[in-house]
Amino acid sequence: MKVLKFGGTSVGSPERIKHVASLITRERRNVVVLSAMSGTTNSLVEIAEYLYKGNVPGAQETLNALHAKYMAVIEQLLGTMQGKAKAASAIGRVFSLLRSYFSETLTEAGEKEILAQGELMSTALMQCYLEEQGINSVLLPALDYMRTLQSGEPDMQHINARLRRMIDLEPDADIFLTQGYICRNDHGGIDNLKRGGSDYTASIIGAVLEADEIQIWTDIDGMHNNDPRFVEGTKPVSSLHFEEAAELAYFGAKILHPSCVLPAKLHNIPVRLLNTLEPEAPGTVIFNTTPDRKLKAIAAKDNITAIKIKSGRMLLAYGFLHKVFETFENHRTSIDMIATSEVGVSVSVDDDSRLAAIVDDLKHFGTVTVDRDMVIICVVGDLEWESCHFQSQVLAALADIPVRMISYGGSNYNISVLVRREDKIRALKALSDKLF
Ligand code: ADP
Ligand code: ASP
Ligand code: MG
Repeated sequence: MKVLKFGGTSVGSPERIKHVASLITRERRNVVVLSAMSGTTNSLVEIAEYLYKGNVPGAQETLNALHAKYMAVIEQLLGTMQGKAKAASAIGRVFSLLRSYFSETLTEAGEKEILAQGELMSTALMQCYLEEQGINSVLLPALDYMRTLQSGEPDMQHINARLRRMIDLEPDADIFLTQGYICRNDHGGIDNLKRGGSDYTASIIGAVLEADEIQIWTDIDGMHNNDPRFVEGTKPVSSLHFEEAAELAYFGAKILHPSCVLPAKLHNIPVRLLNTLEPEAPGTVIFNTTPDRKLKAIAAKDNITAIKIKSGRMLLAYGFLHKVFETFENHRTSIDMIATSEVGVSVSVDDDSRLAAIVDDLKHFGTVTVDRDMVIICVVGDLEWESCHFQSQVLAALADIPVRMISYGGSNYNISVLVRREDKIRALKALSDKLF
């Protein structure tokens, strides 16, 4: 059994949905995870924002546009009157539910229910289409099995038991269809796995079912060696180690949600990144490869703040770093990069919501300097330190670009540098030119 996940653009129009249907029916009894049609979750976020602000007409306008879009999709997707009626009634129920929020004060639980509707609609439409095509597709409602613990981590035991039972009850099913992204929390309320979280759904399902493979189908032919949104001429990387993929995903390679790597890695299940628009392209396979000492790819993570704490008393002062880290822990802010010297330490964070309070606390231990609007550029590969030239190649490529921090040695898989936002694209291009 395989798990196949299709992202928003892959199911973004009636033609795309039909095309995905042709891909998923090539083999029997796989689990197919769908995201919301592209743009839908953003519209739902917008509706919730309007409602929080008490702007019901704003919410109404966004909702009406979305409803019209879905009615047009139904018209083109389904061929029979019966199919159209069934789909229209499923979609109609969703929009009635959304409208019911217009007359009450929005709560967090309400917002979560609103955000869940995109995946519920895309799977309902696909189910109607597959039924019309005579395919025995069984819809596995994610809200019946996908659950997180109080910690926010997936409740693997619960998911395993529920999902296996639901699948076992359907021995004749050709295909199992389910929603990405959405889940229930430990209180049983509707929740989600964060934006882009359908990849995580696929990985969790792959792990609990011990799948042969997890396929992430998207709009590009695999993980490219640099960010194709900013650099021309990037190329797909044929294989990556789980650790390399984790670094790239965490440091900005949007093709993969960072949480997606761990469940697959722990259960040793290969993850294949494939292109819906070019299904025969080899894409990228992620698994426990053997070391190959190669530079693989570059990624960038935006909106980083660097904080430097200088202390004259740091010399031989054990406990200094502990106090610094404790400050960040107290403010529940995680650190991305670290660089230390005898007189100070620099760290970077991507969440600056508690920055003022953190800086205030850090001033007890030394002089504090803050640099905002920075970008982490991350060069990833099998970069064993004994193969001397990787670090020098990276720094040589960046010879003309001011570098605020450098980090290597946390793992064998990444060299990270921190640069100013305005230097990001120049740095990405320079690295591509020199390294590939
Ligand atoms: P989906 O909706 O299918 O989940 P995403 O938009 O989340 O798709 O991810 C695919 C996009 O990721 C690509 O269209 C591409 O612009 C972007 N991307 C960023 N970095 C990379 C990379 N290194 N390789 C491939 N795609 C990347
Ligand atoms: N629909 C959700 C989002 O847009 C989840 C996903 O696409 O993975 O974030
Ligand atoms: Mg995605």
